[in-house]
Amino acid sequence: MTLAVVRSRGLAGMVAPEVTVEVHLANGLPSFTLVGLPDTEVKEARERVRAALQNCRFEFPSRRITVNLAPAELPKESGRFDLPIALGILAASGQIDARALGRYEFAGELSLSGELRPVRGALAMAYAVSRSEASAGRRGFVLPTHSADEAALVGEVPIFAVRDLLQVVAHLAAEAGEERAQRLAQHRPSERGAVPHYADLADVKGQPAARRALEIAAAGGHNLLMVGPPGTGKSMLAQRLPGILPPMTDDEALESAAVLSLAGQFAPERWGRRAFRAPHHSASGAALVGGGSVPRPGEISLAHRGVLFLDELPEFDRHVLDVLREPLESGRITISRAARQVDFPACFQLVAAMNPCPCGYFGHRSHACSCTPALIARYQERISGPLLDRIDLRVEVPSLGERDLLDSPGGEHSALVAQRVLLGNERARVRQGCTNAMLTGADVDRLCRPAGAVRQLLHSAGSRLGWSARAYHRVLRVARTIADLGGADELSATHVAEAIQYRRSLRDSSTAR
Ligand SMILES: [Zn+2]
Repeated sequence: MTLAVVRSRGLAGMVAPEVTVEVHLANGLPSFTLVGLPDTEVKEARERVRAALQNCRFEFPSRRITVNLAPAELPKESGRFDLPIALGILAASGQIDARALGRYEFAGELSLSGELRPVRGALAMAYAVSRSEASAGRRGFVLPTHSADEAALVGEVPIFAVRDLLQVVAHLAAEAGEERAQRLAQHRPSERGAVPHYADLADVKGQPAARRALEIAAAGGHNLLMVGPPGTGKSMLAQRLPGILPPMTDDEALESAAVLSLAGQFAPERWGRRAFRAPHHSASGAALVGGGSVPRPGEISLAHRGVLFLDELPEFDRHVLDVLREPLESGRITISRAARQVDFPACFQLVAAMNPCPCGYFGHRSHACSCTPALIARYQERISGPLLDRIDLRVEVPSLGERDLLDSPGGEHSALVAQRVLLGNERARVRQGCTNAMLTGADVDRLCRPAGAVRQLLHSAGSRLGWSARAYHRVLRVARTIADLGGADELSATHVAEAIQYRRSLRDSSTAR
């Protein structure tokens, strides 16, 4: 009996555990058995590997072939293991030299003709390998060309790109000392995309209060709820938040790219671009937070380090919204499927929008609202208190009259707003190492201690509006961001008063008219 061992990688959430592909050849009736893959995928994998080997003029051994993919309990998608299985059969049957095999890891799906097709999550895989100590610098990764392009962006793992099976075999022969064989060069990463381009805030007419709230949200990392009738620019404003956020660090860009790669949605030109995801309110829980038999990231993870926009918030399934509470606190989501759990990053900024009432026209300047007070109350109560509690900023986006629109000056450009945001954001990071939105209650007590008149203002507002301790902390966090935007070290009454404006409950803002 002859044995060959080839190393590959699986994917479980953002972790890429090593998978060992063992190939045994034994005498007896010819057969081809695959162990460790789901039954539905075994047949296809067998056929692809057999056809690819034969079409590349290798001998397909007429012996008893047993392939074992270990560990057994990992979820495995068959395609990525085609290349390691084919190489294992070639090594076990003595058609290639097995010595060089151990220096590399391999992944790639084979076409029937032996060409290699990309695998899902190549960047995520390389990212995981670069962060796992076990394999630090030990081996290079051999991947299909398209997958190699994205994996090479990680930069810390040597990547080798191959078009087809024959190219891999030639490289291994060269490594084993055969002089005429063609050796692969380490793959160079393709150009990272240029500075990302976003829609400009100058396109939004009027709405100074909402623009201000958007700027505060950007500077402090706060979640934002916009309330207003249809057609007042809520979606336009939300779409422009990524363009005023601070530029991504290399680490953030890498994490974001890794998550997109898991979903097969990464392209090099998206490098460093903050995501904007706007799932429809009919989206299922799995689409929103992730799921599936081989768990895939949902919208909240695809929005990692970017913006998740939920338009018509009360129309979302309440149970689905409740699931958002955990990632809003922790920046991660854990998905449990049968006996296993996977973790995806989900550190996103939430922007939500809603009409003030079911018909949309409550408080509209010219359009009459047809809803009863009871109907309006029920509509607003669809959003649970605990979710609302995680939204620091609430702002009204009123309908504009024709005069207002005509008289409104063109809005400020995003580039100018982004400069202020960056300065405010840096003040917070230098002071405490994170954005203001991430401060815990204890941090707030330590860092934002208002005194005298400011303290009095805060407490009288709090007792009038019935705030919890949590609500106090939220107001202070926002006030801290407003002070940072103004370049102030101390919280003033003006900062706190503005922050209080953004804390009014939905009921307050609707009954105040
Ligand atoms: Zn109405």
